[in-house]
Amino acid sequence: MRRTLHLKLVLILVLLIVSLMVVVGAFLMNSVTGYYIQDFYSQIAAAFGQDNADFVRDLQTAREGETDGAAMVEAVLSTNEGVLGVDRRHRNFFVLDGATGRYLGGSAPEPEGGVAVTPNLSKALLGEKGFDSSVTADYMDAAIPITRGGQDYIIYLLDSRETARALNAEMFSLILEALALGLVISVLLSFLLAKTMVNPLQRLTDGIEQVARGDFSRKLEVSSSDEIGQLTESFNTMAQQLETNIAELEKAEQERKDFVANVSHELRTPLTNIRSYAETLDDGVGDLSPAMEKKFLGVILNESDRMAHILQDLLTLSRFDSGRSELRLTLFPFAQAVDDTYQAVLMDAQNHAHTVELHLPHRLPQVRADRERIMQVMMNIVSNAIKYTPDGGRIVLSAGQEGDKVWMEVDDNGIGIPDGDRDRIFERFYRVDKARSRQSGGTGLGLSIAQEIMRRHQGRLYLVDKAEPGLTIRMELPVAGPEEDSHEG
Ligand code: ADP
Repeated sequence: MRRTLHLKLVLILVLLIVSLMVVVGAFLMNSVTGYYIQDFYSQIAAAFGQDNADFVRDLQTAREGETDGAAMVEAVLSTNEGVLGVDRRHRNFFVLDGATGRYLGGSAPEPEGGVAVTPNLSKALLGEKGFDSSVTADYMDAAIPITRGGQDYIIYLLDSRETARALNAEMFSLILEALALGLVISVLLSFLLAKTMVNPLQRLTDGIEQVARGDFSRKLEVSSSDEIGQLTESFNTMAQQLETNIAELEKAEQERKDFVANVSHELRTPLTNIRSYAETLDDGVGDLSPAMEKKFLGVILNESDRMAHILQDLLTLSRFDSGRSELRLTLFPFAQAVDDTYQAVLMDAQNHAHTVELHLPHRLPQVRADRERIMQVMMNIVSNAIKYTPDGGRIVLSAGQEGDKVWMEVDDNGIGIPDGDRDRIFERFYRVDKARSRQSGGTGLGLSIAQEIMRRHQGRLYLVDKAEPGLTIRMELPVAGPEEDSHEG
């Protein structure tokens, strides 16, 4: 890339300089010639003008007894060569016969074949002044008819334009020199330009290739604020975005794998139990006491209940994930739901000798939500408090309103959650103490379902920091309910 861009740069600069020189050269040379022609005619016109009346009179007035008028005219012209710019090399004057144009005299001998009849000379032969010259011709001339002593003459001035040509040639060689210098400068300049333009592009290309290989470690340095700088910046942003997306994808993929592994594991345990108890029953038909048989059957029923429970939870989650589960929004008093939860768990709490307190403010608003699901969340977090608090614990349920939200908090003085696990308990199948949770019938899916339900309601479910042992968990719910499309995605 570097080569071709550099070559293009050189080519552009060379073309630019050549075309500039051609235009400037043509313009200069043309105007030098134009100036030279104009100067010639204005000099002649001034010589024959009114300011030079003596000269004109000397030319036209014949002396008494004059025999050779042409010689006299030639003599007058000779003495006025300076006025006419005649140098006898590039510019000459001729005295011609006014009727035939025949050579009668001049500052130069008669040219071979006589003086050429130019358009100006033809005009003068008709009695008019000939004063024109084309820029492209290689000579310029002027022909002025005069009468002296009754005889017609033509004063003919011929300039070979040698001076203009010499000047142009000089200028041409100057332009060529400038061109050569310009070319050298443009090549040098192209290196500089290549350095400032091509190098950042090269770096960008290297960076893109690196990212294409999957290496996001290096950020490109933005060294300018121009388009290339902006491009580099956009590229950096894009690479970063890509890296984040890939990381998220990898995380999701890992979660999916873990989930499948977890589901298999969770279902295998009760299935193994059922199988081994059924086998024992089968092997010992007739040998086992009815009490033993009843106990084994009880375990089998329990384990199959557990499986059904897990499958039910998985189904719920899958409905949420696929967006097939609609919220059935109704208007109901939030305080009532909290109280119902309290009443529902009271028995269970008493069985574990827990004291349960309920703190409800006098007035709590009605909320627009799916009552059954909200109750499910409340039940889940209160049941957890009962489960994960050693018997004889203290559980406090409180609720309230904050702005356009209502909240419920469940606080216990149980085993709590180690700092390292706090972030993870909302993950599917995550349990701090698997044996303990399983023993109490937990699936490890309760809190992830609860959090999903709250998210659907545009509410929140989170752990509240507390210094004392135990756990405080809090749910928040917008009073007005979720906006219409909240369950999408
Ligand atoms: P489970 O069915 O195991 O109770 P959850 O999703 O409801 O599943 O809870 C996930 C894990 O969070 C539990 O296994 C437990 O380790 C922890 N946990 C939940 N609530 C409490 C609590 N009040 N005190 C201590 N640990 C808790």
